[in-house]
Amino acid sequence: MDIKKNIKGLLKSLEGSQSELVAISKTKPTSAIVEAYEAGLRDFGENRVQELVDKHPLLPDDIRWHMVGHLQRNKVKFIAPFVYLIHSVDSLKLLGEIDKQGENCHRIINCLLQVHIAEEEQKFGFIPQELNQFLQNDELKNRNHIKVIGLMGMATFSEDLEKVRVEFRNLKTLFDQLKSKYTSSNVDLKVLSMGMTADYPVAMEEGSTMIRVGTAIFGTRN
Ligand SMILES: *Cc1c(COP(=O)(O)O)cnc(C)c1O
Repeated sequence: MDIKKNIKGLLKSLEGSQSELVAISKTKPTSAIVEAYEAGLRDFGENRVQELVDKHPLLPDDIRWHMVGHLQRNKVKFIAPFVYLIHSVDSLKLLGEIDKQGENCHRIINCLLQVHIAEEEQKFGFIPQELNQFLQNDELKNRNHIKVIGLMGMATFSEDLEKVRVEFRNLKTLFDQLKSKYTSSNVDLKVLSMGMTADYPVAMEEGSTMIRVGTAIFGTRN
């Protein structure tokens, strides 16, 4: 697996687009992350708290660490001191805990709301209809140690890229609606995190501003 070459190719395909690249390094050793870092990447994402906590101190300080997997409330405190962006906020309770831990470490923690857009059963994420209510909730207003900066979605795992495209398109439409409707001191929707190895070209065509790519950089996982 030639990580540097993979990154070069990916960055080339991102040229002139608005999409940022987050390298999803879950299950991969720190040596692989160092290689990607040397190729110029600074944004890395993990889906498990333990792995994030283990890898973070071993790697350069200027890495921006993204949490992309389901986050349990009792684990927020472990990543609050250093996490750059949490992509997987799926409840007000979780957001409340992130706010509390942000306050404890004198930080404002950036968050994305995870939206359920796929056809298949997903355990996590808001359904689109819930988000209006969520963003109007009074409980959100007094949270000074979080900032909701966008949405994250995962499309159906399918070879049918037209189905995937429709799901991304719906998420983008929702994003644009919410963005124009809700702006406050702690809500400013700028980031649309969608697209993985199998579907990032489609996601970019549909308006993604952040793609999360693992396999196409680091190779397949065991
Ligand atoms: C693993 C993972 C990715 C990256 O998946 P690849 O198919 O390897 O690119 C992106 N987003 C989330 C939430 C993930 O868990």
